[in-house]
Amino acid sequence: MTGAQPTEIRVSEIFGPTIQGEGVLIGLPTVFVRTGGCDYRCSWCDSLHAVESRFRDEWRAMSTEEVWREVTRLSGGKPLMVSLSGGNPAIQPFGELIGCGHGQGYRFALETQGSVARDWFADLDVLVLSPKPPSSGMETDWEAFDACLRASEGKPQTVLKIVVFDEADYDYARSAAARYPHLPVYLQPGNHTPPPADAHDAPIDIDGIMARMRWLVDRVAEDRWFEARVLPQLHVLIWGNRRGV
Ligand code: SF4
Repeated sequence: MTGAQPTEIRVSEIFGPTIQGEGVLIGLPTVFVRTGGCDYRCSWCDSLHAVESRFRDEWRAMSTEEVWREVTRLSGGKPLMVSLSGGNPAIQPFGELIGCGHGQGYRFALETQGSVARDWFADLDVLVLSPKPPSSGMETDWEAFDACLRASEGKPQTVLKIVVFDEADYDYARSAAARYPHLPVYLQPGNHTPPPADAHDAPIDIDGIMARMRWLVDRVAEDRWFEARVLPQLHVLIWGNRRGV
């Protein structure tokens, strides 16, 4: 995407340091910058407070400097991985923040569904592309997805991360992985008990998620799909549906 962009970043929350709970950076200490607003509405979204426009009043339009000040305050000025998430963080102007952080030794990872390409993707350290499977109720625009890959110019470490709830999602994950054989693929069992939008914590069915995890491991092993990595959401195992951890 090119042309004039807004300079303020719409922020839902900035928190940490904590650990990255998912995918390729699992377990790594990080500060999260969660942006407000998303062009998708996945049926099982676990971050609706950063998606639904009725929470707009809770989001803050922050300058790059303000975001940066908060990140460095939380990290105690010691460089670490900054995780840009959302909502869809790709719809926010992050280019300047990434440049500023790199100058001080920070690294940046962004996770997006791959619906909006930005030229600053090439400046990221890690790009997690997470196309949404059929259970989300969304349809993947593969042309937009390909544009995200082109925008990254092959510079960041780029991986696929796909949430799997059922057989249809699993088939989707297999075909997405076949489409991009050069990308490492991470599979994650879905949380069928995501928190309601206005809850800071909510009951969660860990046993059900673990049953899905076991099914997914069996499925991958059965298929001899040895390139796939299967991981649960670590933060969900530790803190359940609690927000801001
Ligand atoms: S793309 Fe992500 S943030 Fe947006 S609705 Fe789907 S799960 Fe939620």
